[in-house]
Amino acid sequence: MDPVSVSIIDPVVIVGAGIVGLTIGQALKKRGIRFEIYERDATPTARGQGWAITLHWALEYMIQILPPETLARIQSTQVDPCVARKDNGNFMFINLENGEPKWKIPPSVRWRVNREKMRLALLEGIEEHVHWDRQVVGIDILENGAQLAFADQSVAKGRLIIGADGSRSMVRQVLRPDAYLNTPVGVNFTGVAVDLIPEKVKALRDMDPLLFQGCHPPTGAFFWYSTLETPQVNGTAGTSAERYRAQICMSWPVRGPEDQVASTDAERLANMKRRAQGFAPFLKQAVDDIPAGTAVTEIKLADWECLPWDNRQGRITLVGDSSHAMTMYRGEAANHGLLDAFHLVDAIANIYSGDATPQQAIDGFEEEMRTRTSRAVRLSRTACLDAHDWTRLDESSAILTKRAIQGK
Ligand SMILES: Cc1cc2nc3c(=O)[nH]c(=O)nc-3n(C[C@H](O)[C@H](O)[C@H](O)COP(=O)(O)OP(=O)(O)OC[C@H]3O[C@@H](n4cnc5c(N)ncnc54)[C@H](O)[C@@H]3O)c2cc1C
Repeated sequence: MDPVSVSIIDPVVIVGAGIVGLTIGQALKKRGIRFEIYERDATPTARGQGWAITLHWALEYMIQILPPETLARIQSTQVDPCVARKDNGNFMFINLENGEPKWKIPPSVRWRVNREKMRLALLEGIEEHVHWDRQVVGIDILENGAQLAFADQSVAKGRLIIGADGSRSMVRQVLRPDAYLNTPVGVNFTGVAVDLIPEKVKALRDMDPLLFQGCHPPTGAFFWYSTLETPQVNGTAGTSAERYRAQICMSWPVRGPEDQVASTDAERLANMKRRAQGFAPFLKQAVDDIPAGTAVTEIKLADWECLPWDNRQGRITLVGDSSHAMTMYRGEAANHGLLDAFHLVDAIANIYSGDATPQQAIDGFEEEMRTRTSRAVRLSRTACLDAHDWTRLDESSAILTKRAIQGK
């Protein structure tokens, strides 16, 4: 064991200022518990996190742990404030060949928020505890805590280290050096963000104003539309330059070399257009209209099932995507990460109040998280595979069943 010791007054240290790390920071501040967050990005906006996410069953937990003003700021980052006021919560899954809705998932309360703006909303009020441009490259376990080593050669000590560093987590690698890599699911995914004038977006938003998904029965290709900004949100409403911003994504099963993701944007775009050839006219048009030169982003579809690790007597743990990477076909990963935050902050409070030892508190936290999210990772993988095979889709498919918290 390292001779350096950690004092009782050392803070909780969080690696990663994503939405889960920042939520924990806000919740600890509310409880009066000291914390510091170390983030690899140089600034809060250094890396566009340009997609929208749906907060659904985690909302009731966020309400309990976040300050009301933070919640209000998050609520104001909804991609379409007009729809948000009267949202029917339907989740639409369509047949891409004829453009007809096949399933409508029952309504539930949801906030569809811009992820980057949500991160900024969570940052407000805890700025002085978030340290940018501090990439963690090593961790030493100490007598009463642990010490982070950064790429710039500096170090920081903490009572408890929380790895909230995303799906390719460095902290996970320290805890499970033998098995930290995500498992690919055998499906490839690319997507674009595009500006659309009202006439071009109409047919898509007529299907659903926020998002819809579908499968192309003959080929198994999957398509996903999602609104990122309305003219009211981006300030173009009522001007001659009125525009929406939307995300158009596609994914397909990997069956051979032709299914690999190409290295250039032009080839990736050509691939999306080729796969959309048999789609219903309004969908094919939406893909055909993506302008040449648009950046086409690949998202690697792979997961990690919250394997066991040794938390070094409650000195180090994982939350969010670092502890349970999952594909986004059930739109649940952030919701699980936010629930992790809820339970972990409770566990930390129990350590500080003396009601539990670090070992007891962190063991209990991890047991609940592991049970809950192992199932979620598997369900999301099944949902991903079902989404690409029309013959596997029915009301009981994992992609269509109601999102809810369940264990095992
Ligand atoms: C297209 C898409 C759609 C999605 N839709 C939904 C949805 O509808 N609903 C839902 O619940 N979820 C959704 N998700 C999942 C959701 O985005 C993630 O679960 C969530 O953002 C994870 O948050 P996090 O804080 O755990 O990790 P991240 O947001 O990845 O944050 C990790 C942070 O750690 C930092 N970091 C990494 N390594 C280091 C290091 N060594 N040192 C310091 N800092 C480091 C990173 O820079 C990053 O800022 C979607 C995901 C995708 C890709």
